[in-house]
Amino acid sequence: MHDFSISRQIASEVIKRANEKKASQVLEIKLKIGELTHLNPEQISFWLKELFKDTLAEQANIKIEKVPVSLQCKKCSYQGKIEIEEKFYYPPLLNFIFCPHCKSEKIKIKSGDECLLERIKIKR
Ligand SMILES: [Zn+2]
Repeated sequence: MHDFSISRQIASEVIKRANEKKASQVLEIKLKIGELTHLNPEQISFWLKELFKDTLAEQANIKIEKVPVSLQCKKCSYQGKIEIEEKFYYPPLLNFIFCPHCKSEKIKIKSGDECLLERIKIKR
């Protein structure tokens, strides 16, 4: 259900931008989905295709790039990507993410929690 509501927001954003640019057709869209969002790219792609039916994005090629999680440590200032174990792969357990260098829990997520419409290719 989460996937569906996000897809609906993305779809309306795509149509809005396409209309602003007076597109006759949307050729391709590219999304970036962070690993921490818990969104399923296959589901997103499925819902987008459904939502694009009978719109100018009906034929759009949907590309989704998964963004790995990276953090910045507030204690030792380590910056970098981290691997998240499957069991922690869930937002409420975000507190279990710690710095791989000094093990501090005082970290800032730099990427991996985003869901962005990065690019849209249109035909006028
Ligand atoms: Zn650290």
